[in-house]
Amino acid sequence: MPNGCIFCKIASGEIPSSKIYEDTNILAFNDINPKAPVHVLVIPKKHIPTMNDVTEADSQLISELFQAMQRIAKKMGIAESGYRIITNCQKEAGQEVFHLHFHILGGRPLKDLG
Ligand code: AMP
Repeated sequence: MPNGCIFCKIASGEIPSSKIYEDTNILAFNDINPKAPVHVLVIPKKHIPTMNDVTEADSQLISELFQAMQRIAKKMGIAESGYRIITNCQKEAGQEVFHLHFHILGGRPLKDLG
């Protein structure tokens, strides 16, 4: 685990989180500063800093992440009403935590988010 990565610490249980979903390779938990009634962060347990660092070796993991997000949207009751998946890559996009993560947002109209 890279020193000080907060999402690695959440993945290992060192820092508590409000867990929504977990399997062998993936964890999902509520965002601490929600921008919508549903705001879940989905992370690989493996430390991948940004979208730029995803490689072909991660193909299976990326597929699992998208299947997990589908399940989580259903579980949170927003699969049919609608939801948005966001990943911020690097500083100008607003990435604050340098461990790959996907935001799942829903539960209200999201037009104010762009
Ligand atoms: P990003 O700006 O895309 O890097 O997103 C990082 C997200 O992590 C922000 O929405 C934060 O609110 C969220 N966050 C930071 N620390 C925690 C934490 N300990 N538990 C849950 N969410 C967090």
